[in-house]
Amino acid sequence: MNPIPALEIRELRKVYATGVEALKGVSLSVQPGDFFALLGPNGAGKSTLIGIVSSLVNASSGSVQVFGVDIAKNREAAMRLLGLVPQEVNFNFFEKPFDILCNYAGFYGVARAEAKRRAEEELRRAQLWEKAFTTARTLSGGMKRRLMIARAMMTQPRLLILDEPTAGVDIEIRRGMWRILREVNAAGTTVILTTHYLEEAESLCRNLAIIDRGEIIENGPMKTLLSKLDVEGFLLDIDGELPAQLPHIEGIALHAEDRHTLDLEMPRAMHLNQIFAQLDEAGIRVRSMRTKTNRLEELFVRLTGSKEAA
Ligand code: ADP
Repeated sequence: MNPIPALEIRELRKVYATGVEALKGVSLSVQPGDFFALLGPNGAGKSTLIGIVSSLVNASSGSVQVFGVDIAKNREAAMRLLGLVPQEVNFNFFEKPFDILCNYAGFYGVARAEAKRRAEEELRRAQLWEKAFTTARTLSGGMKRRLMIARAMMTQPRLLILDEPTAGVDIEIRRGMWRILREVNAAGTTVILTTHYLEEAESLCRNLAIIDRGEIIENGPMKTLLSKLDVEGFLLDIDGELPAQLPHIEGIALHAEDRHTLDLEMPRAMHLNQIFAQLDEAGIRVRSMRTKTNRLEELFVRLTGSKEAA
């Protein structure tokens, strides 16, 4: 049996007519069945990237293959594989949820009887079945968002893409959406969502990429990223010269930046005083120190808007 190829994004660039370079050569793979977050601050290029993957925006260069189907060479076939949940609620408020779903499926060529069957299934999954035949206008904000997900699932997409599905909605509404997304993913649909909430990516996703100013600055399992954020870095200026052999301190990475400067990485939970005492024993006197922030930390400060979070 042939395994399903991944979603492959290669060297994607996008320069808008205004001259803004929104993507500067982005490459990513998303495995079938994954729950993948694309995390980044406003203006990072998230919408542009998923706009290209879902064929709404043309790339300036690069390629995208959706599970083996090239979006430039075979746009229709690629589009049939994916469902998109846009940021803004965009269905007709005067229609009923059941009709919204059936008409959407009909537009994509799903036979009426099958569309009705799927509509019931999706409305039940979204906990909207009791609202199936009331006008959509009367739905709460959270229900409207869940209806958007139900609608995208009507074509049974292999890949569901959500553009900041929870931007500006309260935590209760977010949790309601997360539950459906987990269910959809557990049933086999690959999910990609863009978000600027780390907490959301952490709660839902197995893998993620962090995009900043049109570039991927981090890509891998969520667990790996979180462990990186637990580490703090310092540059220590030393009195005199460092010894040729640096001491070994449990749990700490030490290396000589130059003969008078020590680069130190340590778990956030650890106390600097303990480390200073051990350095002192090894004859290393610290004169002053600077925090060494990395790009990831800087990004998190910007994402969360708070210094404590980094
Ligand atoms: P994000 O979704 O991460 O907020 P976007 O992809 O929307 O980021 O935007 C990336 C950059 O491209 C920003 O500088 C934005 O102003 C610019 N941009 C986005 N869409 C357009 C457009 N249609 N025309 C010109 N510039 C755009």
